[in-house]
Amino acid sequence: MNHEKKITMAHGSGGRATSDLIREIFAHAFANPVLDAMEDAAVVTGSEKIAFTTDSFVVDPLEFPGGDIGRLSVCGTVNDLLMRGAVPKYLTCGFVLQEGLDIDLLQRVVTSLATTAKEAGVTVVAGDTKVVEGNGGMFINTSGVGFVPQDIHISAANCQVGDAIIVSGNLGDHHAALLSQRMGISNTITSDCAPLGEEVHALLSEKIRVHCLRDITRGGLGTVLKELAEASQVTMALDEDQIPVDVQVRDFCGLMGLDPLYMGNEGKLVAFVAPEDAARACEILSGCAYGRNAAVIGTVTDEEPGSAYVRTAIGGKRVLDVLFGEGLPRIC
Ligand code: MG
Repeated sequence: MNHEKKITMAHGSGGRATSDLIREIFAHAFANPVLDAMEDAAVVTGSEKIAFTTDSFVVDPLEFPGGDIGRLSVCGTVNDLLMRGAVPKYLTCGFVLQEGLDIDLLQRVVTSLATTAKEAGVTVVAGDTKVVEGNGGMFINTSGVGFVPQDIHISAANCQVGDAIIVSGNLGDHHAALLSQRMGISNTITSDCAPLGEEVHALLSEKIRVHCLRDITRGGLGTVLKELAEASQVTMALDEDQIPVDVQVRDFCGLMGLDPLYMGNEGKLVAFVAPEDAARACEILSGCAYGRNAAVIGTVTDEEPGSAYVRTAIGGKRVLDVLFGEGLPRIC
């Protein structure tokens, strides 16, 4: 490539500059037999039950402590597949590049996306690039396919009275890391952005009775639990004391007037498991790469179907609703 180092409209022309860009940046990073064939559509082997999802990533800034838009665009989609108990298999990537985008930055993001795909065990089997006017930004859409084993029935509507509510680790890290960077606050908070395949498959292969899984993304745990309470027509009863939050994130929240229960993560899940399996599930998660601070934080009850609340440290009761308003825009 002639090193102009910025994306220009010519890169989106469909002509020589486009093919150079695809060959030098994308094809190299994502090389595999299906993609290398450069067909109009990927033909891959299938499964009786497939999970299929899509997500668009508009995060700002494009690189942040603990991740970047490339890693995020794999984790977001792969984690959604995992939350149905699927084994993630294939990914497609659509890149929308703005004129003026730094090509070194694009290269870093593409490399990070490819590395994360490898970590998550998924193959990028199709892709697309478009260039639009703008000021050097980038958006990525990823769609993902996973195979669901026949005996798996994990669903938002399947939380059961008596289930233990388990989170896989500290809340709020991704949100706090992004907000810190945008505000120029210096701390060592890093995003938790991670693919959760090891965690989910460890639970399932150890025969933990998992009824429901949800990744704790935009809207935070509070929003997720309220939505699941409605979907399953149960009550989510949490113990504030048990909810894990990193001390630095807690201080940051105190300073900013933020509530960790409504802050987004990109590498945490909440699991609903049979009560007899709760302690072992926590132990299994704690042994995984991204489950170090896993904790039982509450139980499912039948007090008031469709509701969620936290018992506070001083004995009060705070009702949880879905996040209202924008939260933090462009977090994912
Ligand atoms: Mg999700």
